[in-house]
Amino acid sequence: MNVLVINCGSSSLKYQLINSDTEQVLAKGLCERIGIDGRLTYQKAGCDKEITEAPMPTHKEAIQMVLDALVNEKTGAIASLTEVNAVGHRILHGGEKFAGSFIINDEVIKAVEDCCDLGPLHNPANLIGINACMELMPNVPMVGVFDTAFHQTMPEKAYLYGLPYEYYEKYRIRKYGFHGTSHSFVSKRTAEFLELDLENSKIIVAHLGNGASISAVQDGKCVDTSMGLTPLEGLVMGTRSGDIDPAVMEYIAKKENLDMAGVMNVLNKKSGVYGLSGGLSSDFRDLEDAMNKGDKKAKNAIEVFSYRVAKYIGSYVAAMNGVDAIAFTAGIGENAPTVRKMVMSYLGYLGITLDEEANAKRGEEMVISTADSKVKVAVIPTNEELAICRETVALVK
Ligand code: ADP
Repeated sequence: MNVLVINCGSSSLKYQLINSDTEQVLAKGLCERIGIDGRLTYQKAGCDKEITEAPMPTHKEAIQMVLDALVNEKTGAIASLTEVNAVGHRILHGGEKFAGSFIINDEVIKAVEDCCDLGPLHNPANLIGINACMELMPNVPMVGVFDTAFHQTMPEKAYLYGLPYEYYEKYRIRKYGFHGTSHSFVSKRTAEFLELDLENSKIIVAHLGNGASISAVQDGKCVDTSMGLTPLEGLVMGTRSGDIDPAVMEYIAKKENLDMAGVMNVLNKKSGVYGLSGGLSSDFRDLEDAMNKGDKKAKNAIEVFSYRVAKYIGSYVAAMNGVDAIAFTAGIGENAPTVRKMVMSYLGYLGITLDEEANAKRGEEMVISTADSKVKVAVIPTNEELAICRETVALVK
């Protein structure tokens, strides 16, 4: 069957049409600047990208344009919309209500609405995407796949913050974790690739992209993860600070004369490796280039990033009382040998040794530890769209 995978952001929408039998991507692309002006990128498998500028006041027009492109007489990937058999929606926040994926119905929509205060930027956009698809494809089954679901197996000791318990009861303040689809996909694939028994394994997944998070997966279930109530906690990221002393917020507010929204803007958009590099870039390609030319701040940024990753790995070894395998994934995890090497330089105490030659490669599934390394370290490319497609098929079939 053909599954349309939709990932709505506040002003963007990414999509892929996947044939679930062959797992081939038939077409993919994105809509950007929704509500501003509008730009559709469409790429049919084996063809060049096409870019169309056209007004997209809301996600509904954006989805209509995607559907039109998919069935376009000349460049469409399918002949008619009847060839879209199901839609899988990525949904950011499922709170405590969703520990798995669900067929979308009124009850699910209501529950996603209830989680809007937990994911104020994404959940409303996700809902608009769902409603638009329901209007345009009323008879096609739709599935919601939640970024938080995989982490719902965390025990209380991992997800409770050291705050008054009533805030958890009244406001649901706790650690939820994100990138769950990726952590689930990569931990399963790591076990397969390294021939481990998933049900009896301790795997640490480092999802290092623009947004970055780590998870500890024991016997196939998440037992801890670095992102929290929101995707701001944990690792130092492209532009997000990750963990800081919470008192820094008040201090910045006073010194810079900022209100809470202003401080949050600094922590979300002006911090991370971007902030550390003095505003040079949030992209590790630029930072590596600058570091190699002797830029001290770029070097600091990469070192702070890698050190934080290594410390989280150490804490998850403690959480699981051991580790069988560590997997690097996402943009940086798959493509930045310098970062992987730096992280692994802290892990000698675990009996880990790096295979320098393997580590020099980029973007492929591979083992990067030596044959005698006590813990296997691998690069496992993530594929969130394929994971959403598989979840969708499992529920719809
Ligand atoms: P997200 O999905 O969170 O936007 P990605 O997983 O696509 O992020 O990762 C994007 C990041 O991956 C880029 O910002 C860049 O830092 C890093 N990256 C991509 N390719 C390379 C490369 N060849 N070398 C180093 N870093 C890379």
